[in-house]
Amino acid sequence: MTPAKTGGPDYDARVRRAKHLAVIHPFAAEVMTLYQHLAQFQKRLYLELAQPVMQHPTPASASSFRSNLDLALLLQHLPELLSLLQNVGPAPVAEAARQFSLQGPAAWITLLTEYWTVAGTSDHLRSQAQLPRHDVKNIAHDYTQYSASEALTEFILHIFLQPYAESLAANRAAPAAIATHSVCPLCNSAPLLGVLRVEGDGGKRHLLCAFCLHEWEFRRILCPTCGEEAENKLPVYVAEQFPHIRVEACDTCHYYIRTIDLTKDGHAHPLIDDLGALPLTLWASEHNYSRLHPNLLST
Ligand SMILES: [Zn+2]
Ligand SMILES: [Zn+2]
Repeated sequence: MTPAKTGGPDYDARVRRAKHLAVIHPFAAEVMTLYQHLAQFQKRLYLELAQPVMQHPTPASASSFRSNLDLALLLQHLPELLSLLQNVGPAPVAEAARQFSLQGPAAWITLLTEYWTVAGTSDHLRSQAQLPRHDVKNIAHDYTQYSASEALTEFILHIFLQPYAESLAANRAAPAAIATHSVCPLCNSAPLLGVLRVEGDGGKRHLLCAFCLHEWEFRRILCPTCGEEAENKLPVYVAEQFPHIRVEACDTCHYYIRTIDLTKDGHAHPLIDDLGALPLTLWASEHNYSRLHPNLLST
């Protein structure tokens, strides 16, 4: 069973977890407060989108998924997100939303279409890798840089398009699991995270899609970036502060993926616990490991 696929997205659970993490991790409180606003917007958008999408189910393949952007349905909801971000976002996010809203519908269509085509795919990650990474919170001082501005634009596009991607994924039959398939079988994106779920006496690893949030089974001892399968090349690090988050690294390609271990903490929510684990990003970069796919905060 793939738990994420029963009953659609769990926005209320995401908000509850963000509230909890804001209390127990004060360093993540600002991020978790912003995230609660974003998840509530995404829930409203998902509910608006769910019915029309369900009336037009489409066959499961990544190319048909990507050809399915219904701008006529979506575009009317974009101003709500842009004004929300201007009201509740930190200064650089609010300013990016203001600039975005000034561009108007013709530019929005171009940006949404371009992002929808590549979001989460290896082509997109290659173009991102040529730019310095920025934390959304820390880019106020160099906002004029093209790279920071582009990162913020993608932040907005990602928040807006993810509920639509989730609604498409929720209405498609998942292809039979191939446990060595390192990109999402529905939309072809890279994985954002691993998730260890209780099965029998141990845990079974799944990968969580960075874009449509579909989950699929993946072998425990296998690098999703380069395919390395020698156990001594695949070290796992766990910080004392986050005993349920595994940094699963690869000494062959020097990429890593974070895996949220639900066998250690059944209350964790993969998407939210990852956003709250800010110190792990610093640790990984100090050890020369790059993340396979960054999260919403570009960390
Ligand atoms: Zn996907
Ligand atoms: Zn590797």
